[in-house]
Amino acid sequence: MDKPFTPTRLLFEGRYRKFVRDLPQTVFFCPQCRGRGCNRCEGYGKLTKDSIQELVARVAMPRFKARRNKFHGAGREDMDVRMLGTGRRFVFEMQKVKRDTVDLDDLAADVTRRSDGRIEIFDLKLCDRKRVVEIKETHCAKEYQARVRFEEGVEVDLDAAAKVLDGLAAGDRFEIVQKTPQRVAHRRADIERVRWIDITAWEYDGNDLMVSILSQHGTYIKEAISSDDGRSQPSLSSLLGASCRCVELDVVAILEPET
Ligand SMILES: [Zn+2]
Repeated sequence: MDKPFTPTRLLFEGRYRKFVRDLPQTVFFCPQCRGRGCNRCEGYGKLTKDSIQELVARVAMPRFKARRNKFHGAGREDMDVRMLGTGRRFVFEMQKVKRDTVDLDDLAADVTRRSDGRIEIFDLKLCDRKRVVEIKETHCAKEYQARVRFEEGVEVDLDAAAKVLDGLAAGDRFEIVQKTPQRVAHRRADIERVRWIDITAWEYDGNDLMVSILSQHGTYIKEAISSDDGRSQPSLSSLLGASCRCVELDVVAILEPET
């Protein structure tokens, strides 16, 4: 009798940095056809050509002779948000693996090189399945840099705004109540959450504001700026008394776990 086939699972963990604003973390399946292919996705089944998951898989899968993979991030940034600083932890899980002796430093260097400057992965090491839950359940505060723009046609007293921002930057963290953002309400429960946020520094760049923000895990930063039609309170818009929105966002640091 043939031996029953046992799929072999192998996982490695590491960190990634992302330097572009058009790359999702995982495969971005077309919401209309869920991967089967339709007019909206021009038959591809997905809405972007690449993702961090696919950039890693393209190198890792043939080296491990693996058949399927999953990408587990320690949280995720929006597709248009860069992930800088010391990066974000992830676990890459492969199934039906036929080879387990792979040089992970060389793999990391090759993923980075073949991404054409879009991502960098580093600090790779083999890990077990427990790490998936551990990295997903570790809550970390994050530091952001946001480019904030006043809505067109809004009358802004720039001196008054500067006073408010100076006050915020000199002050402590404050609480913000956020309802689930409208942009994700179709796939997340509509709940209210309380998070803290701390505006630590700011400056004008032309008519834009460059704002440094420290915040508790799970804070919706874009909405903390725009107010999301009043669903986040207070917001930078409400504090400044002038509608503004985040036009560029970078994660510049994921801090050590909150205790
Ligand atoms: Zn489709």
